[in-house]
Amino acid sequence: MSIACATPLERSLLVDYWLAELAPAAEERVEEHLLSCVPCSGVLRSLVDLAAGIRTATRKGIVRAVVTRAFLERLRAEGLHVREYRVVPGGSVQCTVAPEDDLVVARLSIELEGIGRVDLAICDDSGREKERVRDIPVSGAHGEVIFLPRTASLRAAPAGVDRLKLLAVEQEAERLLAEYVFVHTPLPAEPA
Ligand SMILES: [Zn+2]
Repeated sequence: MSIACATPLERSLLVDYWLAELAPAAEERVEEHLLSCVPCSGVLRSLVDLAAGIRTATRKGIVRAVVTRAFLERLRAEGLHVREYRVVPGGSVQCTVAPEDDLVVARLSIELEGIGRVDLAICDDSGREKERVRDIPVSGAHGEVIFLPRTASLRAAPAGVDRLKLLAVEQEAERLLAEYVFVHTPLPAEPA
């Protein structure tokens, strides 16, 4: 006897359900299905476990990623203390990380509609590229790119300037879409 589901719920639907992003009617449909379907609720559980793993890794500051607004909201709902910096194209911001921050996020405002592939390059003050996040999710960007740097390395970072560049990658060429400047200052050490 097979225990497979004849009409499995799509993974993306389950993710939206978990993020509480579904309209009430759709949410009800998914809930009804899950109540009577062992395989699909198993898939949901594994998604939730995966997400918990990501949250743990995020909390420890070892993840560097571009995340969705829903994911960020979810982290907040989980009780994580998030410090955020919103920057407009060409703008710059003074930033730091405090001991109570679980995460620091950069919210880079940008319209990405109609652009195929976008990379995020992390450069030093002279423009030399240090790291790159390739092919960041463009659909559902809703006018911004939310970048979550490794909080652990931020804590260790000396004062300095980082330039984040959003690049449109077209065939062999790349085009600068926008640049954002982060002027980082470590907090003074706590008096012993
Ligand atoms: Zn099912």
